[in-house]
Amino acid sequence: MFRAGRILGRGGDASLVWQVLLIVPPVVVLAAFALYSLRQDRAAIEQNARGNASILAPGLAGRFGARVEADLATLIASSCSGPAAGPASPEAGEAALTPLCGLIVNGQIRVPLDYQSLPSPPDWVRQLAPAELKHWQILASATPATDTGALQRAAAALGTAPGPVRLNAEWALVRAEAQRGTAANAAARLFSLARRAEGVETESGTPLSDLAMLLAFRQLPAGSLTDVLLQDVERHVLERPSFLTGTLIDEATRLAPGGRVTARIRARFRANERALTLLRGLRVEDIGHVSAVWLDSGDDTWTAFVHPIATTGAAIAGVTRSASQVTLVPLQALERVFQTAPEGRDVPDYATLTVVLGGRSFRAGRPLSPAAVPLELASGPGQFVLPLTVPADTVREFAGELLRIAPDAMPLEQRSSGGVVRLAGVPGAHAFTLKLELADADALYASYRLRLWMAAGLILAATLAALGGLAGAWRAFERQRRLGEMKSNFVASVSHELRAPIGAMRLMTESLERGTVADAGRQQEYFRIIGQECRRLSSLVENVLDFSRIDRGSREYAFESTDLDALVARTVEVMRPCACERQVNLVLATFAADRPAGLRRIDGAAIQQALTNLVDNAIKHSPAGATVCVELQADAASARIFVEDDGPGIPEEEQERIFEPFYRLGSELRRETQGVGIGLSIAKHIAEAHGGRITVESSPGTGSQFTIVLPAAEEPAS
Ligand code: ADP
Repeated sequence: MFRAGRILGRGGDASLVWQVLLIVPPVVVLAAFALYSLRQDRAAIEQNARGNASILAPGLAGRFGARVEADLATLIASSCSGPAAGPASPEAGEAALTPLCGLIVNGQIRVPLDYQSLPSPPDWVRQLAPAELKHWQILASATPATDTGALQRAAAALGTAPGPVRLNAEWALVRAEAQRGTAANAAARLFSLARRAEGVETESGTPLSDLAMLLAFRQLPAGSLTDVLLQDVERHVLERPSFLTGTLIDEATRLAPGGRVTARIRARFRANERALTLLRGLRVEDIGHVSAVWLDSGDDTWTAFVHPIATTGAAIAGVTRSASQVTLVPLQALERVFQTAPEGRDVPDYATLTVVLGGRSFRAGRPLSPAAVPLELASGPGQFVLPLTVPADTVREFAGELLRIAPDAMPLEQRSSGGVVRLAGVPGAHAFTLKLELADADALYASYRLRLWMAAGLILAATLAALGGLAGAWRAFERQRRLGEMKSNFVASVSHELRAPIGAMRLMTESLERGTVADAGRQQEYFRIIGQECRRLSSLVENVLDFSRIDRGSREYAFESTDLDALVARTVEVMRPCACERQVNLVLATFAADRPAGLRRIDGAAIQQALTNLVDNAIKHSPAGATVCVELQADAASARIFVEDDGPGIPEEEQERIFEPFYRLGSELRRETQGVGIGLSIAKHIAEAHGGRITVESSPGTGSQFTIVLPAAEEPAS
């Protein structure tokens, strides 16, 4: 016995909502959990990096401080100390990277030498005695027309007056003679005067030695300045700077053979000028304690490392004295030192170093990529001490001063060593902070990113699977809905198919019963119609019952040896009245009478039912007068039963669907043909239960040909 499966699926009991609820939340929970874990993962990586960095930072800061100290000491010592203090080369590029040194004592700039930028009249004029004043006025008001003798007498009268008066009188006399062109040996006299008059000012406050030297230069021809005189000029310029120094150097340059020495003098003077400008910018509160101060001078920025070399406590005559050395380092030079100093061996790939000094940050390690946002991992404090260096030029002037204000700080034997004053035991180091920052997040998060991609892939796969599940659930739901719809149509169709013939039969039997139909021929006709309708109804009921069995999965087939030729012939005969009624010509054509299909192991009743359904369809869809042809072809391999009609045909796209249960072509409302839409699906099920199939060849307007294909003779389908 063959037990067939169901035609209709009964799945989809769980509602769509339940399916969605079962699919979506797990995916959302999975995605949320994955994202949460990744966040935790990232936080753990950062935490780890911070932990490592905080272990590294103190050691790094210590080593970094030592390197910076050594590098800065070399830089400062080479430019601030020794007999050739100041930049050796006048080139602007070099000068910009050369540190400068200064000394501030009691709030006054002592190194380099400061000077008043505007002349202020000296006291000696006011202190002149009346007789001296008379002589002085003769000399001061001298013109080229004044008698030389009178001038010489006035100068001689002032020969015993105090230094400034005497030297100014000498200056007035030489100047008058030089103007008149009568002075003998004027240049030599003027140089001699300049040497003696250092520190003396004219009546208007101008440095007398500068004026004398300038006038001496004007007496000399170009190229005539000797080396001895140049040395004198150099010393004078550096030790007695004034607002005339620039002009003096210009004049010396004009007169000096070659320009090397004057270029050096000019460079040193300029360096001193720059140092003075910067030192004047220091605020009082920056001095007196260890500090790093930032100074802006025009285009460039400088760092002033202030270092007290003696603080309060050294009081002389009730006056508290203090001295601070200021080392001026161009920002560029400092950056270069920081750049080259990092002790980078231990710094992890992803980190970089930043130095914070005096409120400013410097990049010490490799540069950050432009897009990176620096993230501080850890920081450590460090410090460096700068060498205490005072330029040799000023030792003579300030050694005494330093001894007075800090006697303990400068033992005598250290007062001068190679032209440098070195003070022992001076406290204070410049503190900085070394920060380890995240420079390359890509390097730090490399392993994390791999996990991120994997998680993203997992979430994506889960989402796709969920979407697939949802689509499947939706399709099943739709199919179920369509089936429901078709089933209700089916019920309506069956009711309709039953009601019409039952109504007709009731009328006819009532007429026959009442004896209102007297004519014997008419009576016969009524009996024939009633019989035919009964057959049709029983065929319909048979189909419905069969379909129900198939759908429940309880349709059973009994295979037994059956004569297929006889079965086909009998079926055609059974259907003939139906064809006659519709005025359709039903023809049975056998392929070859001498090659009968013979005995086949089939369920004869089922095959007859399938064939009946096909022939019934063919008759239903054929116009009056058309022919329906049934043909049986058989060979050793298979048996084929063809049912061919000249009906309207079936469009290509519908040819598969007509085998679905309840599916009917055309509008349900118009009901052009009788039927409930299960005939073909039953026929298909029967053929497949025999191991065969049903095919259709058709095109609109040319009729249709349905074929039941059954497998080899005597072989039952299983
Ligand atoms: P029905 O009870 O409607 O005949 P079937 O399952 O037998 O149900 O057929 C399904 C549909 O296939 C029919 O509604 C009809 O539109 C179409 N069909 C079946 N056989 C033919 C045919 N020989 N010619 C044209 N259309 C046909």
